[in-house]
Amino acid sequence: MEKIMSTANSLITLNNGIDMPALGLGVFLASSEQTADAVETAIARGYRLIDTAAAYNNERQVGEGIRRSGIARGEIFITTKLWVADYGHESTRPAFEASLRRLGLDYIDLYLLHWPMPKDFEATVASYKVAEKLLAKGRARAIGVSNFQPQHLENLIGQTDVVPAVNQIELNPYFIEQAVCEANKRYGIVTQSWSPIGGVYDRSQTTSVPTRPLDNPVIGKLASRYRKTPAQIILRWHLDHGFSAIPKSVTPSRIAENFDVFDFVLAPGEIVAIDALDTGIRAGSDPETFDRNSYPITIDN
Ligand code: NDP
Repeated sequence: MEKIMSTANSLITLNNGIDMPALGLGVFLASSEQTADAVETAIARGYRLIDTAAAYNNERQVGEGIRRSGIARGEIFITTKLWVADYGHESTRPAFEASLRRLGLDYIDLYLLHWPMPKDFEATVASYKVAEKLLAKGRARAIGVSNFQPQHLENLIGQTDVVPAVNQIELNPYFIEQAVCEANKRYGIVTQSWSPIGGVYDRSQTTSVPTRPLDNPVIGKLASRYRKTPAQIILRWHLDHGFSAIPKSVTPSRIAENFDVFDFVLAPGEIVAIDALDTGIRAGSDPETFDRNSYPITIDN
């Protein structure tokens, strides 16, 4: 049977009706020197979704890259995130305005709460309620969360009015977070994969996972079969699952490579074979214990 393919980035419709490009560029750990160039290169290559955060300290350079691209603001989907140190009723709005000022924008497409803060969930909820107001005023086109586990989603949704549009979570072939994906689906929340090709393993203390997903032989075999690279196979796997993915690269050739995934699809059995690589081992921080002191980040205003 012939497979349906498109060479254009696919769009995902969020639960409030707005469209988000499925594949975007992440800029965590992109230095301020690298970020504007990476964003400009990505947009020239066809990317229309850029994922940053106040805590990445590169919102200014993301804004610069967007302006340099020459592409109209309305055609680019910008995500940024509220850092946990700014959680609470009073501090959320100023932190949002500071992100806008650094980006040089007058609205955000998707505004996320960066982590749940289980030890102070009241502050987490207070911030989300402010985000709801920003949504109502059109300052954000969609709002959502990141790193929320099913219990955090349930707790938040029970106390607020707007179901998050997106939950951005650690997700790659070695860590599938099935319970979170299922909860997202139940609530109509789009799952967005961070560290989609497994970049987190390069900076993690996790020693029980011996190789990176990019070096896995199952992925390698599929790469040979499709004449694609391991990164492209993994990104296609995210898209074929219906996830959004935001691979980070500051290398022009990899930025192009990671976007060249719209001319093939994986067969159902191949998707299942990649699913089977799940180790169940998280390489990033544990959302259950995350709080203000986990990373004492100073945001450069
Ligand atoms: P990724 O899985 O995107 O991997 C990035 C790493 O892989 C970089 O070292 C990059 O190197 C390298 N790389 C990129 N493309 C290729 C390729 N085609 N072949 C080989 N290597 C490649 O990991 P990240 O952790 O950066 O996650 C992506 C994005 O997710 C972040 O940038 C951020 O936007 C978001 N994120 C969100 C978090 C959250 O808590 N919400 C947490 C962590 C990330 P190079 O740049 O040198 O090319």
